[in-house]
Amino acid sequence: CGIVGYVGESQAAPILLEGLEKLEYRGYDSAGIAVYDGKKINMKKAMGRLKVLNELTHGGELLPGKLGIGHTRWATHGAPSDINAHPHFNKDQSIVVVHNGIIENYLKLKHRLESKGYEFVSETDTEVIAHLLDYYYDRDPLEAITKVMHRMEGSYALGIIFADHPEEMYAVRKDSPLIVGHTKDGSIIASDVPAVLKYTRDVVFIQNEEIVKLTEDKLEFYNIDEEVIEKETTHIDWDV
Ligand code: GLU
Repeated sequence: CGIVGYVGESQAAPILLEGLEKLEYRGYDSAGIAVYDGKKINMKKAMGRLKVLNELTHGGELLPGKLGIGHTRWATHGAPSDINAHPHFNKDQSIVVVHNGIIENYLKLKHRLESKGYEFVSETDTEVIAHLLDYYYDRDPLEAITKVMHRMEGSYALGIIFADHPEEMYAVRKDSPLIVGHTKDGSIIASDVPAVLKYTRDVVFIQNEEIVKLTEDKLEFYNIDEEVIEKETTHIDWDV
């Protein structure tokens, strides 16, 4: 299970596919990526090896765009399948999420959301996050994310894109690893250092309940109260 995300001047899909490959050692049963193409978010995902996703996207060519997230899944809730693979969308496909971890109270949240008219397409715990974000979203990504954090119990590392904020990516974690860094022309997130080493050796380790807003040239860090926090950069001087 692994997460990768990129926003910047380069094509995102090849960076995501390559990053996911570097996280293969963590184990997975399916993989997927979502990329914003300037108008909407396009997604490809499939059960099986990354080779399948590579073929499905022609090495990323079929998903053009400079903002994207990727995922390798180790199924915990819902069998390995194309539909259960991440990313997961909200109903009008304007919000997309990748998730590592387990949402312990997902059934309760799912029932609440269903009673409000939300329809689920997968069997994953993760899909509640996409619909909960939709439920709380009022054009302020940070506000929606902190509200969702207050509702979720369990572990999560998340990469999130809002189609109406096409210059930004959001990341957050609790009890699942997540790092962020700057590349020469953008910003990147990943579950672990090997996925970013080709692009940067200066990374920031995200701690529990911290949120990152990434843009091409900036990383901004917040706590769950939406207050700006300062983070230290760690220089990685080892190789994989
Ligand atoms: N619990 C989620 C699922 O089963 C995420 C699993 C993972 O960390 O890859 O889809």
